[in-house]
Amino acid sequence: VGPIFYLTARGTTRTAAENALAILRDTEPELHLRSVTLTAKDKICLCETRECTPEACPYANGYYARIKGALWDMLDVPCLTAETLQEYAERHTVCPFELGLDSSLWSDVIIGDYNYLFDPVVHLVRFFESAGDYIFLVDEAHNLPGRAREMHSAALTKTSFYEAKKLLGKGKSSLKNALTKVNDVFIEWRHRAEEETAARDGRFGKTFFLKERSEEFDHLLNRLCEPLEAWLDDHREPDETHTALLQLYFDVRAWLRVADTFDDHFVLQITASGNEVRAAQLCLDPSAFLADSFALGRAAVLFSATLAPASYYKDLCGVPEARAVALRSPFPAGNQGLFCIGNVSTRYKDRDASLAIVAESLATMVRARCGNYLAFFPSYAYMEQAYAQFKEHCPEINCIKQENAMDEQQKAAFLAQFVPGPSQPLLGFAVMGGVFGEGVDLTGDRLIGVGIVGPGLPQVGPRQEQLRDYFEQTRGSGFDYAYRYPGMNKVLQAAGRVIRTPQDKGVVLLIDNRFAMPDYRRLMPPHWSHLKMIYDTEKLERELWRFWEE
Ligand code: SF4
Repeated sequence: VGPIFYLTARGTTRTAAENALAILRDTEPELHLRSVTLTAKDKICLCETRECTPEACPYANGYYARIKGALWDMLDVPCLTAETLQEYAERHTVCPFELGLDSSLWSDVIIGDYNYLFDPVVHLVRFFESAGDYIFLVDEAHNLPGRAREMHSAALTKTSFYEAKKLLGKGKSSLKNALTKVNDVFIEWRHRAEEETAARDGRFGKTFFLKERSEEFDHLLNRLCEPLEAWLDDHREPDETHTALLQLYFDVRAWLRVADTFDDHFVLQITASGNEVRAAQLCLDPSAFLADSFALGRAAVLFSATLAPASYYKDLCGVPEARAVALRSPFPAGNQGLFCIGNVSTRYKDRDASLAIVAESLATMVRARCGNYLAFFPSYAYMEQAYAQFKEHCPEINCIKQENAMDEQQKAAFLAQFVPGPSQPLLGFAVMGGVFGEGVDLTGDRLIGVGIVGPGLPQVGPRQEQLRDYFEQTRGSGFDYAYRYPGMNKVLQAAGRVIRTPQDKGVVLLIDNRFAMPDYRRLMPPHWSHLKMIYDTEKLERELWRFWEE
């Protein structure tokens, strides 16, 4: 049986898999378990600019002449991490990415991103051309439906065709002709989006949906491929025009691949904004694709701390017959104080009115014990409002907030402020489901409490409404599938930031009256049974005091 594929949603959790294997090797010295961690080309490449041709890259040039020597040299290395692969790749002048792939054929455990199995474009052809005795371990499986939707969707913009035509310069050609025809369809779609928006309320912008693929558009894209390929063949200089046309070619190919699978699990969305028109084939329900991927192996284990309700995840992950097992929390329940402020609504229409009580509740939590805290909000806009309100009313509490599109350095700088044993309280404002909402591991007293404002429902928008309609028609649970379940998943992930080890102690403060409703309570895990409802600040103060005194 094997190999085992340990599939992860994020790069950081690959280290957790490597650590788990290290523990196995330490406890079972007889166990010969060879593992390799596959890392994306961009991250593992040894060149300053990544150009994977024998002409441009010394690690690609003559690869096959040297790869045997490299594999032979690594034969006794049990754990091939990205760093180890780079080290051997450098030593033997071979590409580290390809070296990882070639090593995978001789490995018992292959650690890598979800897309090595589930993505129809980049899955590992060397394994998944047909079914095998594989075992799939899917880490943080609550991310799988969302990731799979992305893998099976595609988008194109009018600008990319228009710009490509402009870059080709003056004069007629079959390529320019084909680009113009595609551009014309976008113009028609823009008119339709404007007309349809004028006929109804325009709160979602100029957008409309089609339940079927556009045969005409796909036909024109197919017709475009031939002259585009010919042009790319004739023009190999990597200048601006070549880069733009090559990218366009890949995007068109990706679109046509999705168009081939387009059925009633998809919708086509057209959105117009200024001069831009965007077409997107959206996969609403990835379960059939995921079922096909799982059928390639012999067994699969999908795990996560937040797979509730199990029936929803089994359904969307394409494993409806799977056995669901809920393990008890490994941490003492008493280490987590769990309170809910039940006298406030943070629904969209009530947000302005909620700000004062949200700020007061967060301040009460922070003042109860000096330490580091995070407050999670359902959107940036609401977070910004609450941040401004909090700073004005509690200037003595040091506050920081998540910014839009933070890079790795900015994220690290944000988290670095959560120091052990702080002498001043710190409250970080963040967005639920955002970069700090999961995968953040602030152990000990680096984080002693989180405030969670609202049940995390995704913002109402045209796509979310499509999901709701689809799941209402197919499962009779539109609101649950499109809003409630994904929202509560974010809540549980955010709450999970507090207790990371058996020694950690901290507070989770839920702020919204919906948390008291049965439809939300039933989605809370068994170790949340001690949730205390609170309706005034004095009571919250007393409860927090008691919790920290215990
Ligand atoms: S072949 Fe490998 S080393 Fe060379 S540019 Fe591509 S990824 Fe980098």
